Amino acid sequence: MNRFVMFVMAIALSFVGCTKVQRYENPSPNHVATVRVWIERDKHLPPEHVLAGCELWKDKGIRCVQVPNKEQASIRVNAIFRNCATDPDGLTTLAYADPGGGVFVIVDCFTDNKDQIDVKKFRTVLGHEIGHQFGIWKHVPKKCEKNNVICGDALMNPHYADAIDFITPVDSLAFDARELQRAVVSYDGEEPTFNMPQQHEVDGCTYTTRVSAPQGRPLVMPQ
Ligand SMILES: [Zn+2]
Repeated sequence: MNRFVMFVMAIALSFVGCTKVQRYENPSPNHVATVRVWIERDKHLPPEHVLAGCELWKDKGIRCVQVPNKEQASIRVNAIFRNCATDPDGLTTLAYADPGGGVFVIVDCFTDNKDQIDVKKFRTVLGHEIGHQFGIWKHVPKKCEKNNVICGDALMNPHYADAIDFITPVDSLAFDARELQRAVVSYDGEEPTFNMPQQHEVDGCTYTTRVSAPQGRPLVMPQ
């Protein structure tokens, strides 16, 4: 490829970067790892949408299955019943995760006053939290600054963004560089880390958004 063609491609890529977030695509990943997910039985945690969130990572060779018992699961998804409130700093917590497999969803943040779930947001947030469980415990900085190796638009950015409901090439890099010793999933040939004990001494994730929750909605309570 000559220099001129490379230059034109660089210009074209920079335009793509300005207008649309790039999606990571790899329809035939080399490895396939099956992730076992336990989902609390609650109408605000529809299993098909939890699994679809997990499978945002399918192009990294991840396949997700629901299991009936917590003990069999690598990831456990729980509903948290509290108001989807915006803190004084303007941030609203949507969900959080603990190393070792715990994912906690503040279901009020995804449910409108007719009890309808915002499926796109729900799947995206589940994809983010489950991404941590794969060993990506550091959020990917959105802005690239000095010393950042992995940075840019990503599902694993610290704040939720409507525009990124898929994994990006930056997420793919973050996955490849993940902390295997704190991952609930491993491919064949890697150190198995399933069923590791809870590690409370290490930081987990609190995933926030700058978009305010609609005001005046009733709190969603368990049935
Ligand atoms: Zn996070």
